[in-house]
Amino acid sequence: MSDQLKYLLDEERIPKTWYNLQADLPQPLPAVLHPGTGKPIGPSDLAPLFPMSLIAQEVTTEREVEIPEPVRDIYRMWRPTPLYRARGLEKALDTPARIFYKYEGVSPTGSHKPNTSVPQAFYNKEAGITRITTETGAGQWGSSLAFAGALFGLEVKVFMVRVSFEQKPYRKAMMETFGATCVPSPSTETAAGRAILERNPNSTGSLGIAISEAVEQAAQRDDTKYALGSVLNHVLLHQTVIGLEAEEQLRMADAYPDVVVGCTGGGSNFAGIAFPFMGNALRGGRQVRVVAVEPAACPSLTRGKYAYDFGDTAHLTPLVKMHTLGSTFVPSGFHAGGLRYHGMAPLVSHAADLGLLEARAYNQLECFAAGVQFARAESIIPAPEATHAVKGAIEEALACKRDGVARTILFNLCGHGHFDMQAYMDYFAGKLTDQAYDEAELAMALAGLPSVAA
Ligand SMILES: *Cc1c(COP(=O)(O)O)cnc(C)c1O
Repeated sequence: MSDQLKYLLDEERIPKTWYNLQADLPQPLPAVLHPGTGKPIGPSDLAPLFPMSLIAQEVTTEREVEIPEPVRDIYRMWRPTPLYRARGLEKALDTPARIFYKYEGVSPTGSHKPNTSVPQAFYNKEAGITRITTETGAGQWGSSLAFAGALFGLEVKVFMVRVSFEQKPYRKAMMETFGATCVPSPSTETAAGRAILERNPNSTGSLGIAISEAVEQAAQRDDTKYALGSVLNHVLLHQTVIGLEAEEQLRMADAYPDVVVGCTGGGSNFAGIAFPFMGNALRGGRQVRVVAVEPAACPSLTRGKYAYDFGDTAHLTPLVKMHTLGSTFVPSGFHAGGLRYHGMAPLVSHAADLGLLEARAYNQLECFAAGVQFARAESIIPAPEATHAVKGAIEEALACKRDGVARTILFNLCGHGHFDMQAYMDYFAGKLTDQAYDEAELAMALAGLPSVAA
């Protein structure tokens, strides 16, 4: 039996703790501020939205946070996920690089998102909550929370960005199959949604708007809390199970990455694969280059401002310091719906500001080309979001070829594209274009950033 197979069959290999980068940061994360007072918020400010256990995980600087046994039990359904050596891709690229990828598409909903939807549902259930509201872009998060809600008997209500709601009807069917309710956002069900529709009846929606709607409904009822699929510290924490497993699997292959690559929407799958390796380096272990890849049409890390901003469009959330395009920025309707968020996780933003990572932006067409090349070489069709990580890894492998150096590259294949075949059809039909963002709109959105006393 191969070591890899033995590892996959040994469920005890699932990590017992998540890794918290906050423990090893050379400078602490900037405080989260109350928009009214400009003062740091306390746990009670977040209590209407999240159970205390998750609020505690948001602020803890403990290095290792225990994964509850009921959560590990559910992780066993699909974890550990496989780590593959991309021999087919290496051959196709004729590169001396060794490319490894962690495949998160084997989860019940096809992406890394259940790594956090399951613990979030668990902690809400434990706190006596019966209903959760959320937003979803491409539908990956909505279906993952619907799946977790079904396991714990929680009612789940999902506001889905309208452009994706129309592009990806199967995701809605998946949410409904798991018992959740899914409505297109902006909707007429909330004040935030109605205000947007009044100004623009044809609004295609955005994650910022959908977050406003979900937060508004959660704040109105005691039995309801809100869940976010990315961005927040506790979400990134839960995703580190990816990198921790990868580290152990690479050890079995006698390998350690020189470069770690991930795609970034809100930053959670990237953090999941990269933070454990960044932590090793920060504690004096082996150094590693870390590359975050984002879409050129929604370039928060490469073109955004590192500033305090709202997490949502209607300004219902606290102010967090992050790389942002402005909370009113609405990206074009490109196909990687999961990467269309105006901001970036505060932890990823802070790490970028400290020079702990490199950020790159690629256009949609070159990412689809990379995704197709990957599928033909490795037999897995990547989600449109994941093609950005594939593109980043291919560029690193080609650099190895130019330099004549055999570096080890690790990237996160965060999801499969089986629900995104319309995007591939459009790509093959030549209907996809590289959509730049509107410079004037970006300038306007950035001009509207809230002013915060230094
Ligand atoms: C949601 C999603 C993303 C973007 O979110 P992150 O928090 O940046 O990981 C990327 N890829 C897939 C497959 C997703 O479902």
